[in-house]
Amino acid sequence: MHSLSIKYSEGVDENELWHKFYHVCGSLRENGQTNGREMNAYIKDNRISIDLWTFTEEALDEKHFTKYVTDSIEKLEEFCGNKIEIKYLGYVEEELESICTCEKHDYFVLYYYGDFSPIRCGSCEKFVPLFKIPKLHDTRVWDVLGWVNAYKAIKILDLNCGTGEKWAMRQQCNYDSGLSVQGRKVAAKITEVSGVKTYYFLANYKKISKVKDINRPCPSCGGDWHLDKEKFGYFRHQCDKCLLMSSYSSYHY
Ligand SMILES: [Zn+2]
Ligand SMILES: [Zn+2]
Repeated sequence: MHSLSIKYSEGVDENELWHKFYHVCGSLRENGQTNGREMNAYIKDNRISIDLWTFTEEALDEKHFTKYVTDSIEKLEEFCGNKIEIKYLGYVEEELESICTCEKHDYFVLYYYGDFSPIRCGSCEKFVPLFKIPKLHDTRVWDVLGWVNAYKAIKILDLNCGTGEKWAMRQQCNYDSGLSVQGRKVAAKITEVSGVKTYYFLANYKKISKVKDINRPCPSCGGDWHLDKEKFGYFRHQCDKCLLMSSYSSYHY
């Protein structure tokens, strides 16, 4: 967690202040430096502040800023006539056990996990903060967040167990659904910019026998993709040709 705050002079246009302050927060989020969409800034004694959910102490270091972040901060500082203050507050529950600290990664997996990072490290199986992906933050983190938001919307339809539920399940499970095509493009871009092979995870909600599930071929190339040893706790399929991974279904009969 980090806090962001800046002092301003008496009599500034408050609307403009909120706008410029939230613009900084939005730029940081779009740069993969903060997590989630919840943002509740507050004002006290001519100071506007916010606490932001981040991963690792270095999350808001200047070295990770893009020009969009720098520009938005400059505009805010100019408007307020003061410098922004960024403070590290501490780590959140399970952060230390969940965040990848590897120097090198064998591979990545694009895997939706709510407001956590959607990228898992193949070496340690932990989550990689988006700002840590080399060169991803230039512009492409937006693509990743676009896919995360689409996944989140689909997940809500799925969990509501009503309108659109079946469609939502197919979106998550089929390698050629709109959601999967979007995600696989994002994974390909991550591979391209980082040089680290990036798999796409396909959910598996099929009602299927265990034997059939073990023997099911890669849905894209039809090849064998069963893993002898599970990865990430429950991934059981991996196709190196199609860069797809999947798990056993929880609906075995
Ligand atoms: Zn790692
Ligand atoms: Zn395949």
